[in-house]
Amino acid sequence: MKKQSMLACLLAVGTAACAQKAATPLKRSAATSYAETITPAKLKKHLFIVAGDEMEGRETGKAGQYKAAKYIIEQFKAAGLQPGAGNGEWEQPFTLLQDTLNQSSIQAGGKTFTFGQEYYGSVKELTNQQLGATPAFFAGFGVVNDAMDPYKGAGSSEKIVVIADTEGKGTPLTDRLRTAANHGAVAVFVVSERANLGGRGGSRMRRTGLYWPMMKNMEYIPNSYFVSPEVASAIFGKQWPELLAAAKAGNTTPATGQVSALAFSKGTEEIKSSNVLGILPGTDLKDEYVFLTAHYDHIGVIDGKIHNGADDDGSGTVAIIAMADAFMKAKKAGKGPRRTVVFMTVSGEEKGLLGSQYYTDHPIYPLAQTVTDLNIDMIGRIDDEHRQDTNYVYIIGDDKLSSDLRPISEAANAHTGLKLDYKYNDPNDPNRFYYRSDHYMFAQHKIPIIFYFNGVHEDYHRAGDKPEKIHYNLLAKRAKLVFYTAWEVANRQDRLKVDRNEK
Ligand SMILES: [Zn+2]
Repeated sequence: MKKQSMLACLLAVGTAACAQKAATPLKRSAATSYAETITPAKLKKHLFIVAGDEMEGRETGKAGQYKAAKYIIEQFKAAGLQPGAGNGEWEQPFTLLQDTLNQSSIQAGGKTFTFGQEYYGSVKELTNQQLGATPAFFAGFGVVNDAMDPYKGAGSSEKIVVIADTEGKGTPLTDRLRTAANHGAVAVFVVSERANLGGRGGSRMRRTGLYWPMMKNMEYIPNSYFVSPEVASAIFGKQWPELLAAAKAGNTTPATGQVSALAFSKGTEEIKSSNVLGILPGTDLKDEYVFLTAHYDHIGVIDGKIHNGADDDGSGTVAIIAMADAFMKAKKAGKGPRRTVVFMTVSGEEKGLLGSQYYTDHPIYPLAQTVTDLNIDMIGRIDDEHRQDTNYVYIIGDDKLSSDLRPISEAANAHTGLKLDYKYNDPNDPNRFYYRSDHYMFAQHKIPIIFYFNGVHEDYHRAGDKPEKIHYNLLAKRAKLVFYTAWEVANRQDRLKVDRNEK
């Protein structure tokens, strides 16, 4: 077929349409004029705010995260979405806990040992305790069976049980701790060379991650500490190798000693956070829900440096904002989606997919009526593998639960012409990205998902993940791919079928 001439264009269908056809091989559809409102300039404007220094790295539970939530809500409102969290609210609140060590020390044999130096423990699992002089009992490897009973003669009075970490093989530590508790242990010292930290644990060891309040009531009985051989030597007045050798020889002569004092105290802080939800109600299929998600939290300020998280996941967050605007423009023109579209930005992602876990544990819209989750996490940068050909995006998880989704995604890409890279969709890929962002919480409920991703790069989780390093044209193109895919899933006659169950 010959090339269409400019004159023929003028005569036939008008310049705009012809110029468009001549300039690009990409398809047009009902969605195109709305997709084209997702511009690099718009994304850039939002991202310089979302990933600006004022947002202080958006760490979950910190002021910057609250500020980001406020900004997203303003944008959802401006677009014309409705509050999506129920009861006219934009935010689905949730509470997390975080423990911080106040003080801990062990005194024995005239010496004082310090947490993080000669011993450590799990600040989350340890409960506050203050003990004065307490007898200590060496119970070898702490394993009781038909052949041996290192607790023979130990009695059941309150004591600190000391056991060796090595060669408890075959008997899990938790079982050995329980056995110690049954013999009157108010604390267990597990002696290990590795406990000699000399302060290397640093502040991370003194503070827990964020965790759910329900985890607080889990019983970790009794308190257990990993202590260095020096601590054991001080308690028993004997060199540790000697004690260990006796235990290995099955020498049942018990060693007894004393701990002069043991202190552990921590504080527990409540951390408030939220997921932000806006919805665009559908028309004839409004009881089916299409989710578009990204996480708006990042990792905050580390060593005094703001980690802006422009790519991770400011890029996804602003894509959600721009898609909300595009869908609403269609709605206002009478082309609203048939299914309800839910725009959700979650927090707590960097702390372990907590916001998306909270949502799927406390869904506002029935999970059984949730058709898909298209999740964006990092779409503004280029990884090393694509330095030459930058026109790509990784597609992960699209074929795992529904055979409908990949054909839809690939057809949508006729509008965007990206190279869809399925490398990380391989279940044997060691990076396991499929499990590492919020879509996975939906996938666990058998909701088909797609995860859009640019791969990791030198600024991943570093202070260099800044908005000036984002490729805005590429970001816009990738966001449009998500938009076209969402448009089709929201408007097609048939709901996506769930006919696969791949990992
Ligand atoms: Zn991250």
